[in-house]
Amino acid sequence: MSAVILIVEDERDLVTTLEYTFQREGYRTRAALTGRAALELAQQDPVPDLVLLDLMLPDCSGFELCRQLRQDERTRRVPIIIASAKGEEIDRVVGFELGADDYVVKPYSVRELLLRVRAVLRRQALTPSEEQSAPLTFGELRLDNDAHRCWVADEEIVLTALEFRLLTLLLARRGRVQTREVLLSDVWGIQAEVTTRTVDTHVKRLRQKLGSAGRFIETLRGVGYRLRATPDATEA
Ligand code: CA
Repeated sequence: MSAVILIVEDERDLVTTLEYTFQREGYRTRAALTGRAALELAQQDPVPDLVLLDLMLPDCSGFELCRQLRQDERTRRVPIIIASAKGEEIDRVVGFELGADDYVVKPYSVRELLLRVRAVLRRQALTPSEEQSAPLTFGELRLDNDAHRCWVADEEIVLTALEFRLLTLLLARRGRVQTREVLLSDVWGIQAEVTTRTVDTHVKRLRQKLGSAGRFIETLRGVGYRLRATPDATEA
């Protein structure tokens, strides 16, 4: 079954181009010209496999929509690619903090967009062997890899697909330093627009979400990150 892409975009010409392009590549598309329509379409079965999200919409901000999609149980794991003319670093950081998986700045090349869509869908579809080898419990942290759920001391922590992947990768490679570049390549897939700063933003957010278990992720200043070899390691 081909993937369903929800295009949220208020420029009709662009919607037409995108629908044509995606359909030619074998994807199914839905298009929403407003935030309200986007929410409705996002919740219809089957839930879209990916949302391409414009930030400046007539009735709401794409950021707000991103937040709402992440809060809804049905859509919280759907990958989101923000596509916006707002290319400032602060916009990208906010977008990633709200749970976007990628960010492209308009005007973008449709070919590049397609590559990014494919990369995001591939990450979503793959169950990396490392995911299997990550421990299911680590201190007060507990994971369910099949359901992509995570608990800290019996409290469920809602993670985006990307955060879950970041955490399982760190767990699978626990005790070993992962440079930002390695994390970018292995968690995000190589993407020119995503900078190492993105890795920092996501790790920071993941740590915050994990609360007490956030201490397991250690920063190696100027190098990268490492998840402790054992949960009860003494503080260095
Ligand atoms: Ca717009």
